[in-house]
Amino acid sequence: MKLHEYQSKLLFAQRGIPISKGRVAATAQEAREIAAELGGRVVIKSQVLVGGRGKAGGIKVAKNLQDAEEYAAQILAMTIKGLPVRKVLVDEAAEIKTEIYLGVTNDRAAKCPVMMASSAGGVDIETVAAETPEKIIREHINPFLGLRDYQARNLAAGIGLPREHWRAFGQMAAGLYQTYWETDATLAEINPLVINGANQLVALDGKIVVDDNALFRHLDLAEMRDVDEEAPAETEARKYGLSYVKLDGEIGCMVNGAGLAMGTMDIISHFGGKPANFLDVGGGAGADKVAAALRIILSDKNVKAVLLNIFGGITRCDEVARGILKALEEVKTNVPMVVRLVGTNEEEGRQLLAEAKMTTATSLADAARKAVAAAKGS
Ligand code: GDP
Ligand code: MN
Repeated sequence: MKLHEYQSKLLFAQRGIPISKGRVAATAQEAREIAAELGGRVVIKSQVLVGGRGKAGGIKVAKNLQDAEEYAAQILAMTIKGLPVRKVLVDEAAEIKTEIYLGVTNDRAAKCPVMMASSAGGVDIETVAAETPEKIIREHINPFLGLRDYQARNLAAGIGLPREHWRAFGQMAAGLYQTYWETDATLAEINPLVINGANQLVALDGKIVVDDNALFRHLDLAEMRDVDEEAPAETEARKYGLSYVKLDGEIGCMVNGAGLAMGTMDIISHFGGKPANFLDVGGGAGADKVAAALRIILSDKNVKAVLLNIFGGITRCDEVARGILKALEEVKTNVPMVVRLVGTNEEEGRQLLAEAKMTTATSLADAARKAVAAAKGS
């Protein structure tokens, strides 16, 4: 789960990281009031859950109250990378002398956290990694020891930070690691961390991605989820406990079991199709859950065919079939469907589906071939 910049920076500030003064506004009038409190010169920042807002025009420095109101109105009317802007952060504008990158993430290969710093701040770290990888300095962190002071100094030295800033940098690095650790984040990032006009280090941007699997023990963080900023299908999927990831292909997949779902996606690709999603309805899915899954799949306009691949072990095939029929009553569709049902009560399941004029398949390969053909309109 991604947190907004303003949420991330508050979590940083609680752990001793200096941030700019500011507040969130939902209207241009509110933005003007906050700007007045802050003394006029402010930066108006769109709060959407994507990077590159600056380049997209979603961040503007305002010299006075009129500008603040006008820019807030403009930015609140924007849609950035498909996400409508509903809130802006109004922060005291900083004078920027230097932009630095500082982040912590999981290094899966090294099986431990890694802190990264770069003198090329303000730029996407992926871009830096691709174009000037030598500009990224890394320190792997032993999770039992935490970030050591010498590691923060190594990073500071590695990016050529003047000595006078090392102490402040060390405190920020410690605060960032603490945030990452305490929130069960998979990423905690400050980009840019700047040296401002007063020669102080400040976190100007913040990003935290919390591990969804840890949210059960962070109810305060779970409450920060911004449902407005999520794809509606993902909100719906979470409500029904479905694991759903939208992709950009044309064959919708409904499968029980994550491994089977991946196998299904592979075989679709093998036969020349592209999966429109990953969807695991899970074990023991009843008719309601299956119906919700089908609704979600069909809400994607790219879907030209649906492949239902169900192994009826805990989930009974007749129960799945009833779910499919129930969903088809609610969602009228001409999208062709191919079903492979195997396992407990498969005969009953097939009988039920025969009435719905669905294509059935005997093997997974057969099902994939038929779904690919159906998606191509043949
Ligand atoms: P992102 O584009 O979504 O990563 O948003 P950022 O918060 O990182 O802002 C992008 C860029 O806007 C920064 O790299 C800065 O160059 C600029 N910016 C952000 N806040 C301020 C500010 O307070 N003052 C000035 N002068 N520039 C800012
Ligand atoms: Mn940024």
